[in-house]
Amino acid sequence: MKGILINYEFCTGCHSCEVACKKHLGLPKGEFGIKLTETGPYEYEGKTGKERWEWTWLPVMTKACDMCADRVEAGKLPACVQHCQAWCMYYGEVEDLAKKLDGTSRCAIFTR
Ligand code: SF4
Ligand code: SF4
Repeated sequence: MKGILINYEFCTGCHSCEVACKKHLGLPKGEFGIKLTETGPYEYEGKTGKERWEWTWLPVMTKACDMCADRVEAGKLPACVQHCQAWCMYYGEVEDLAKKLDGTSRCAIFTR
């Protein structure tokens, strides 16, 4: 099974994946194939008691995502992956993507 891994530790919230996907799917205003979510910013103490900040961006695929079937069929990367400005999105077999989960940064894997 193919999927997309997002190492969102490095996502800058630039929206490029959203824009590339909207162009690829030809979606109208207000509709998305991938939508950026934002958590924070807020301050918290954390387990260590030290003051820390939470501010996380995570793009989430919607039901409109078709995993760029036509692009992949043509040997191209999904549009969102190709246009990620932080190079933190990866496309491939879920088993191979899972090997990137080494516990050093926060990742999410999406399939459809
Ligand atoms: S894989 Fe294609 S359709 Fe799915 S979110 Fe990425 S650009 Fe959009
Ligand atoms: S293009 Fe990459 S860095 Fe920009 S919002 Fe999407 S996942 Fe984050």
